Amino acid sequence: MVSNLAHDKARAIAEAVPDPELPVLTLGDLGIIRDVAASGTGVEVTITPTYSGCPAMNTMGMDISLALAEAGFGPVRIKTTLSPAWTTDWISAEGRAKLQAFGIAPPGPRGNDAPVACPLCGSTNTGEISHFGSTACKALWRCLACREPFDHFKCH
Ligand SMILES: [Zn+2]
Repeated sequence: MVSNLAHDKARAIAEAVPDPELPVLTLGDLGIIRDVAASGTGVEVTITPTYSGCPAMNTMGMDISLALAEAGFGPVRIKTTLSPAWTTDWISAEGRAKLQAFGIAPPGPRGNDAPVACPLCGSTNTGEISHFGSTACKALWRCLACREPFDHFKCH
């Protein structure tokens, strides 16, 4: 019989794993961890990929397995579920604040063409320089007010 405590601990460990592409965010911040079930025979973690074919997904699964194994959980099974599909709306408020503090403009609500605000000065007088930034999930933008370039998290 596994206590609820084990579930909570396993979940906390899985959610604290940093995102391989954006280490400023945890997988919990991203909202990709759907379910963590600890039982006498191990732990099963269900995750939803941030977008199909994301090369970081295998890394995420391995990082979760390693973190849980180090805490004495195991064996660990990673299950992926594609439905409902992950959207940037699943990023927690804390995750958005971390992105902003890191100089990355967080994604706006889906289906909303709200202007992208500069994470440095807050101006919405901004423009996209390149649709593909340092990773596939980010676009490179520039602020026309303070003239600083910044990343915009665009995947959804
Ligand atoms: Zn600015």
